[in-house]
Amino acid sequence: MNYNDELTQTNVLHWNYRGFTEFPLNELKGEESEVTDIYLKENLLTRLPSNIGVLEHLESLYVSGNDITELPREISKLRCLKCLDVSGNRLRRIPDEIGEARSLKFLILDENELTELPLRISELRRLRYLSVCDNKLRWLPQRPVYNYHHCEFRFWRNCNLKTLPYSLWYHMFRDQQTRCLNIGCLDAATSQNTNNRNNQCKLKLSQDSNEIEVKIECPPQHNVILESKYYSPPSLYEICRRQFYQMIITAVKKLNPQTYSFYSEHVTENLYNEHNNNNLVDLQENFHSINIDPRDDKYSDENGNKYKSVSVKEAVYRKATKPYYVPADVLREHFDFLPNVLISDLSSGPVSTCENLNCKKAIFDHVYYEFCFGEIILIDKIEDVLLSATFCSKYCADYWKRSKDALPWSLEN
Ligand SMILES: [Zn+2]
Repeated sequence: MNYNDELTQTNVLHWNYRGFTEFPLNELKGEESEVTDIYLKENLLTRLPSNIGVLEHLESLYVSGNDITELPREISKLRCLKCLDVSGNRLRRIPDEIGEARSLKFLILDENELTELPLRISELRRLRYLSVCDNKLRWLPQRPVYNYHHCEFRFWRNCNLKTLPYSLWYHMFRDQQTRCLNIGCLDAATSQNTNNRNNQCKLKLSQDSNEIEVKIECPPQHNVILESKYYSPPSLYEICRRQFYQMIITAVKKLNPQTYSFYSEHVTENLYNEHNNNNLVDLQENFHSINIDPRDDKYSDENGNKYKSVSVKEAVYRKATKPYYVPADVLREHFDFLPNVLISDLSSGPVSTCENLNCKKAIFDHVYYEFCFGEIILIDKIEDVLLSATFCSKYCADYWKRSKDALPWSLEN
């Protein structure tokens, strides 16, 4: 077979099902830089060559259905590579250098033996499709893709994956991208470990006379899972945090109506302005009935250092040093008359917001869960169709449930 003839005609090499045991680079005879697409599916390759970088204009590489155990670090040299399909191999890990293959748009890693993804995968800013189904993933990086909104990603059937990074979890519900949800973190319960209720939801589901128990690892910040079937309100402390958080956000917006920014410099600038000063006084009035002495020397920061409380008036003239997107600095500077425990919780901001898009109230650690079938396609097993969404209140959970195919469930002890 004259490979060069195939090459000069199209720059696309069709080498599927040829029984190759080595990547046939030597067949290219000096034409390496001309090749744009290589199909090497269903051969007997065990590795890709370390001089693969000579394929400098390679845009697509299809090597699914081989026996490849490792990708060379030199994969980073394929600067034009847009599509890499290495599904159905025996890959145990992906080299960090994959992050340098900056043109990658489609990365297909299904059916391998991966236990983790390299952190640098998030450097692939052009990535539009990432699929890592049927692997042995144990965890996902906080930011598995650079841009959640432009990338479709799938992590189906990784049964060792017990948790999702909170950022991903949050994004999925926020953008209704639940069909991409990592189903693997929903694992059928195998033991009757009833003591461990920490951050874990144990569900009993029934469908078509099948009954199944499912464990769900919730984000660690969600300490209290409430079932909307019963009327069990969040604790007063949780409600208190939500209320104060709302007041603080309102205050920050009032102080800085142009940008609605939380940057403390802006807030301080506005406070210097006499016309805006009244807002702060109004706010102090709101808190007046709490009757906490701001000079109480019990106040200390999280390191146990006592800090000197200052009056709101004094605080106005303090120069803020750190800008935060959570209102931590605003709190420390201007709301130091609040109880310290509240300041500390509010400073880190809420862990999530209500999934009812008309509500979006802050949620700290009490949350109502609901489960539904969502828009999942390719359903294999009942465990695979479980989705969840989180709400601030029974009202919001019920509201959402009306428009969704919600799954009947009960919380097991
Ligand atoms: Zn709500």
